[in-house]
Amino acid sequence: MIRNPIPWPDGAKCAVTITFDMDADSLIHIARPEDGFERLYPISMGRYGPTVAIPRILATYRQLGIRQSFFIPGWCLETYPDTVEAILKDGHEIGHHGWIHEDPVITSGPSQAEAFEKALDAHRRICGTLPRGYRAPVYNVTQQVIDLIIRHRLRYDSSLMADDIPYRITTAAGSLWEMPVHWAVDDWPPFAHYAEIGYMMPVCGPSAGLAGFWEEFEAQYEAGGFFMLILHPFLTGRLARWRLVERWLEETMASRKVWVARLEDIADHLDALSAKGHETRTERLPYYGEPQR
Ligand SMILES: [Zn+2]
Repeated sequence: MIRNPIPWPDGAKCAVTITFDMDADSLIHIARPEDGFERLYPISMGRYGPTVAIPRILATYRQLGIRQSFFIPGWCLETYPDTVEAILKDGHEIGHHGWIHEDPVITSGPSQAEAFEKALDAHRRICGTLPRGYRAPVYNVTQQVIDLIIRHRLRYDSSLMADDIPYRITTAAGSLWEMPVHWAVDDWPPFAHYAEIGYMMPVCGPSAGLAGFWEEFEAQYEAGGFFMLILHPFLTGRLARWRLVERWLEETMASRKVWVARLEDIADHLDALSAKGHETRTERLPYYGEPQR
């Protein structure tokens, strides 16, 4: 059970959102800045996302009549503008995902603020709008980034894990919604195999790799919760895996009372509920102001 579940629109029992982090080949350039540009295999593995997987994913969403959220590093917005245009043309949301997938724990201080703002500028120039949400590369959001998100008036973060359902984060600077993630609903553990950046994982077969997600959905559905997947086009946008996700979406939308929405729509809904007095659980940040020994 979930304490204080969120009432969803139109009597839906569960909110469902399939989010994609379109990292493309930013991962190899940030991991191997000296020679990443010469490593054609990981570049091609990443390019599969914007060039082959995203058109496939967009076709499914068009057919089902749904709009979803994508998180894209600023460098990828610049490198794949046609893909960005296609995503926006179908009414999907594009959130902030760093400049070139720099890890905020490693790129901290002035260089993190610079990367964050450089990405915002890419959103302004290429998407024609500022992002409403943020997801940290490798989920490594820091207090500095939370403050940047608030200062630049983004409405939500989607990198933290303190609850099953969306919750509120407050700091001295203001507040925002958290759309919580977890490794259990992320396709990196079952499907990524990427020795160049330190991941040597056994790759699961399509149905075995996805099976855990559907169990997570059943639990969230029963509890009236929030089911979000964190996927990567170059992993789950591949033919056999996407075929199964597409089938799951078709069956779930036909047989269950779900609200399939973009994260910005969920933020709107939460704002409206708060205005009517619905109390959401709040986490106050920072957790700690100094090293704990
Ligand atoms: Zn990413």
